[in-house]
Amino acid sequence: MRYAIFGDIHGNTEALSAVFADSVNGCVDRYLCLGDVVGYGAEPEKCIAELRSRGIETVLGNHDSAAVNDTPLDYFNDYAKEAIVWTAEKLTEDEKGYLRRLPITGGDAGFTIVHSSLASPKEWGYIIDLMSARRCFELLTGQLCFIGHSHVPVIFEERDSITWHRACDMPLEEDSRYIINVGSVGQPRDGDHRASYGIFDAAKMRFEIRRVPYDVRKTQDKIISAGLPKFLALRLGVGR
Ligand code: ZN
Repeated sequence: MRYAIFGDIHGNTEALSAVFADSVNGCVDRYLCLGDVVGYGAEPEKCIAELRSRGIETVLGNHDSAAVNDTPLDYFNDYAKEAIVWTAEKLTEDEKGYLRRLPITGGDAGFTIVHSSLASPKEWGYIIDLMSARRCFELLTGQLCFIGHSHVPVIFEERDSITWHRACDMPLEEDSRYIINVGSVGQPRDGDHRASYGIFDAAKMRFEIRRVPYDVRKTQDKIISAGLPKFLALRLGVGR
């Protein structure tokens, strides 16, 4: 079984379409989405429609939650806040109902998916260092957990101790456990502006990060035309 695991789409349809087009060549059997379907970008409703029409299992992200009033706006910076208010006005009750029904965790045989961390997942803590990775490993019952949220692809490995690797194409060892951040489809923040997602091959026990170029200019124009903060368009060009 080969899984395409992706998230943090943030209303960016160009990046989402590019990821689907790329994954077609990767012989993917199943797609899983790590949440933050909406927020920041100009086409949240199109991204929701795409995931629904493909029947993709999706977990709740903090921006999805905030767009339906389930996470307080105080949590967010001013740019994010402005985009959340804009998104909440744009979405229909049906689309909001879809976001409200998203579960916090999901996955398949042998692995878990969650947007932020298994440690207090609705408080949206980040796994950005060995300490925060340890708290998540303590609650992980299987071997593998896929996450998003920081928009930076990275792999934490627990064997005798916890170490981290830059996400690339790598074998997953039988006697290790892993927390894998697949990066962000619609707003990467690791200095590479291309869309980021992961392919997990469960039979071969391999994980690969894929980076996919898309029409950034078109996405930027849509953000500016929508009246969203210009900064949200500019950052896409530099991947920060
Ligand atoms: Zn996000």
